[in-house]
Amino acid sequence: MGSMHTNLEEIPGGLERAAVFYAERARGQVGLIVTGGIAPNLAGCVGPHAAMLTTPEEADKHKVITEAVHKEGGKICMQILHSGRYGYHKNLVAPSPLRAPINRFVPKELSGEEVEQTIEDYVNCAALAQQAGYDGVEIMGSEGYLINQFIVKRTNHRTDEWGGDYESRIKFPIEIVRRTREKVGEQFILIFRLSMLDLVEGGSTWPEVVHLAKAIEKAGATLINTGIGWHEARVPTIGTVVPKAGFAWVTKRMMGEVNIPLITTNRINMPDVAEEVLQEGCADMVSMARPFLADPELVRKAIEKRPQEINTCIACNQACLDHTFEMKLSSCLVNARACHETELNFPPATHKKKVAVVGAGPAGLACATLSAERGHEVHLFEAEPSIGGQFNMAKVIPGKEEYGHTIRYFQAMIDKHGVQLSLNHRVTAQELIDGSYDEIVLATGVRPRQVTFEGADHPKVLDYVDVLYRQKEVGGKVAIVGAGGIGFDVAEFLAHDTAHTNPSLDVETYMQEWGVDMQYQEAGAVTTPQPAPPAREIYLLKRSGGKHGAGLGKTTGWIHRASLTMKQVRKLANVSYEKVDDRGFHILVAGEPQLLEVDHVVICAGQVPLRALQAELEAAGQQVHLIGGAEEAKELDAKRAIYQASHLAAKL
Ligand code: FAD
Ligand code: NAP
Ligand code: SF4
Repeated sequence: MGSMHTNLEEIPGGLERAAVFYAERARGQVGLIVTGGIAPNLAGCVGPHAAMLTTPEEADKHKVITEAVHKEGGKICMQILHSGRYGYHKNLVAPSPLRAPINRFVPKELSGEEVEQTIEDYVNCAALAQQAGYDGVEIMGSEGYLINQFIVKRTNHRTDEWGGDYESRIKFPIEIVRRTREKVGEQFILIFRLSMLDLVEGGSTWPEVVHLAKAIEKAGATLINTGIGWHEARVPTIGTVVPKAGFAWVTKRMMGEVNIPLITTNRINMPDVAEEVLQEGCADMVSMARPFLADPELVRKAIEKRPQEINTCIACNQACLDHTFEMKLSSCLVNARACHETELNFPPATHKKKVAVVGAGPAGLACATLSAERGHEVHLFEAEPSIGGQFNMAKVIPGKEEYGHTIRYFQAMIDKHGVQLSLNHRVTAQELIDGSYDEIVLATGVRPRQVTFEGADHPKVLDYVDVLYRQKEVGGKVAIVGAGGIGFDVAEFLAHDTAHTNPSLDVETYMQEWGVDMQYQEAGAVTTPQPAPPAREIYLLKRSGGKHGAGLGKTTGWIHRASLTMKQVRKLANVSYEKVDDRGFHILVAGEPQLLEVDHVVICAGQVPLRALQAELEAAGQQVHLIGGAEEAKELDAKRAIYQASHLAAKL
């Protein structure tokens, strides 16, 4: 289980909660856990209140974690992370005083003496981790953090013994590993996370990366883990657009260069993906991180040949990485229990109830399956021929195919826990009243908001459901009204030419599209992006001013924006909608009239709740629970839908 910063270590009582979190994963038979990054000193903290390990007193507090994991038969290494110029606080330091493009704080240059002290701090931190009972440490040397900043010329302009040629720049990581090994002895696991692909201009070349790997082995590392891309890189490395195991080819290049085992990472989310990576000789070991937020029992289910029961990470980042960057506790969109193991549980019900759940979108599915797991008799009604609700539209967007896994998982849970599912059944209030249910849950979701401008009923006008679900034909020139998450997704869908390979399903196409040099001729392996030509001429319109997609996810919004830019989607802001007629779409842009001669106008103007059943049921004296879109359409997403559903199921 790869390292993830969950913020658990930072909250009051967090180490105890982290112990339960990690122990649950150890019980699920994870081979080796790596904790979130812990700073070796104050300057190395990722944020103002980030966790560090600098004293024996702090080490004692970590024992609750190591003891809990060992009790479950697991093994756990602590990651040592010095953020260098990525530190989001005023005391940040770096090899040279160069601000990172993704940080507003400028780092102070470390003096020669401070470099020596920093190395000692790493060693001390590792020794304290050993004292705390950890089985080893992972030294974070990738992703653009301090060690990476020393290695690469772009961030290391020093002229002393720690800068200059490559040999001098890599002395910092080598000394850390060498002195740490000396201090902790032979038996302690020492993983080095090596940046095998920087994905930034002026990054390391392949021969340099190999040279460093050999030096790290010689310095005493037990294992080398793969790091891909600096945080400031403009190539997505873990988002859902990245093909499965999309960077395993990088680790494969390193196989045979060193004699210690290599670990590969990034977008490996299911046992079959991991198995293929190993069969193809890409690595000796596989690391997954987010998949263990989504499902702590992933390994056990794989061993017991129950992969269909794995709640798969869909790489959305919405509840994990986005939360981390918003200084919130991490969790998981598909598993609201992640990092909340001490407070959200689903014990067997003391009194078996007859429960009706209306709507099999994410909210209804989560509520129905978790309630049935608790032992209730659950009847789930869905108007459409299949379960999944809006996820049936999400999964057809190129780069969001993974969302289909969530539907597969819930189907497995319906079967496992005996939910009585009625498809093609638009349930009425009277049926629910006649059914004598103890609890009625309305998870009926939303319908698209209708627009009122002139010509809204013109045949050129469609909505996103027409396009994504009803598969209506769309012409070569299109205007999209509304630039929220769905407007962006529809633009991506319409821009993709089905005659071309979908980059999210093919590693080589993906690397070409985003400008990754798979031959590794360039430093950092970056080259000019070569996206496929777009299938249509697309305008993405919004009434408000400002940047398109400002409300999208913190760690994924930039990917959506960059992708549409590559597909030449024209983004217009400050638009007023006048009318649609046979000539096209008449709009005002900042007050100036413009005619977009488009074949179709696709409305993605938000949604309104669907809860017509509520009034009739309440008039009949029936109490109802509203969850997901049925409760509130504004700012609805699947994270909130599943979260609300899970909390309701826990107390039904
Ligand atoms: P819905 O998914 O709308 O499900 C409601 C269900 O109730 C439907 O299946 C409907 O048929 C059924 N129903 C309604 N009335 C009745 C009745 N009377 N009887 C029986 N059944 C009934 N969210 C994210 O968090 N991340 C994303 O990346 C993301 N991408 C998206 C991409 C697209 C293209 C779309 C359209 C949505 C996306 N969403 C995303 C939004 C997310 O899918 C919704 O927030 C989520 O589906 C809401 O869940 P829900 O269960 O409340 O409602
Ligand atoms: P949305 O994010 O609310 O965007 C709809 C946009 O339509 C608004 O931003 C608004 O922009 C415009 N609009 C609103 N009323 C309008 C009207 N009467 N006429 C014309 N334009 C109008 O909703 P959405 O795109 O439908 O997405 C629904 C939910 O699904 C979102 O909350 C989102 O979280 C979720 N989702 C998430 C993702 C993701 O990647 N995380 C992807 C898809 C969907 P202006 O006022 O600027 O015009
Ligand atoms: Fe995976 Fe999304 Fe859950 Fe994060 S929130 S672990 S990316 S499914």
